[in-house]
Amino acid sequence: MKPVSSDEVLALDRAHVWHPYASMVNPVPVFAVASASGVRLRLEDGRELIDGMSSWWAAIHGYNHPVLNAAATGQIEKMAHVMFGGLTHRPAVALADLLLRMAPGDLQAVFFCDSGSVAVEVAIKMALQYWGAIDRPEKSRLLTVRGGYHGDTFGAMAVCDPVTGMHTLFTNNLTQHYFADRPACRFDSAWDASAIAGFERLLAAHHRHLAAVILEPILQGAGGMWFYHPEYLRRVRSLCSHYHVLLILDEIATGFGRTGKLFAAEHAGVAPDILCVGKSLTAGYMSLAAVLATRTVSDTISGDGSGVFMHGPTFMANPLACAIARASLELLCAMPWQARVQQIEAQMTRELAPCADLPQVADVRVLGAVGVIEVKRPVNMRVIQRRFVERGVWIRPFGKLVYIMPPYIIRPDELTRLTSAMKATVSEADCLLPD
Ligand SMILES: *Cc1c(COP(=O)(O)O)cnc(C)c1O
Repeated sequence: MKPVSSDEVLALDRAHVWHPYASMVNPVPVFAVASASGVRLRLEDGRELIDGMSSWWAAIHGYNHPVLNAAATGQIEKMAHVMFGGLTHRPAVALADLLLRMAPGDLQAVFFCDSGSVAVEVAIKMALQYWGAIDRPEKSRLLTVRGGYHGDTFGAMAVCDPVTGMHTLFTNNLTQHYFADRPACRFDSAWDASAIAGFERLLAAHHRHLAAVILEPILQGAGGMWFYHPEYLRRVRSLCSHYHVLLILDEIATGFGRTGKLFAAEHAGVAPDILCVGKSLTAGYMSLAAVLATRTVSDTISGDGSGVFMHGPTFMANPLACAIARASLELLCAMPWQARVQQIEAQMTRELAPCADLPQVADVRVLGAVGVIEVKRPVNMRVIQRRFVERGVWIRPFGKLVYIMPPYIIRPDELTRLTSAMKATVSEADCLLPD
């Protein structure tokens, strides 16, 4: 069966293809994309949408970028893939070198893997192996904060928010870890030391059994689009050092400039023992993630030389993905990304601020190139998604969160189209579910 018309594409999709967090029986309608370029998605039916999502944080340079296309085609003519066991290649080595130079702190070892969730699994395994290697196997639990999201695989699900983390169905199959309250002190308010008290209590009580603390620095993404105070993260860092617990920072969403710093940890001037990156690493071209570790972590796991790290995916350090990632990071470093993100931040702050006065709006917040309207009732996905498309924008809310994180190359007039569409839809009664 070969799909010909765009209607047939949609019919086959509806009949046979599963979408993220979707029903096969009563699916929310999807829109077929034929091509994408710059900040625009072109649908099969010819309509063009301004992209507010960067394909879930990833497409920071926009779509179909000539430099990234050239990196992809240049590499594919050499080799698309080769196994990483016993072999290495320039794309992986060059990318590792670049990543380590960009990353905060003194990270010295890179483990490449397939996706963000796998990076989180790898980071957790590193922490467990680290304590195993120095004969502290009882340090096997994790401490995190509520409101987090770290991925959909089992190890990652176990540290997602137990309620908003979308995984309550699996609770009985997940390792039980420790959860402190969501960091309550907002990014832009005065620091309130009581915000860290619960976290500190848990750490003090359980550190003998804790391998690591894992959290998203400064910006919690899919668990609630929440921005918290840098002092919280500074306290976490010093408490982890004090109690001998490793700190894993998950910068899969926040890495590479999104919050206004290259890495969100820089808002607090802290560095982790283990760092996860993914999503925008290849600027949305391919699935690739990496876990960066300090020399202490890597060499402790390796012990006297006999200890090996127990992970090795088939597509580890895929050369095509590594070549594109390197080109994307070089592109980022060569552009005034910080000024661009600041402009986007200033414009979103200005244009979204009036929404705070709407009766249906609970909160408006902006950090870097991320703008969020939190509404008081969950959105009606069927209605609001269609309404956004009719307005010529691609914005995909979830729950009570209507938010954008556009490609850094977006122009001011295009950004205004996004913020206007957000303002308009949250004002429409049928875009939110009834009480
Ligand atoms: C998206 C995300 C992940 C999971 O990444 P996948 O590539 O979807 O597996 C993990 N952590 C954070 C913070 C994320 O935003």
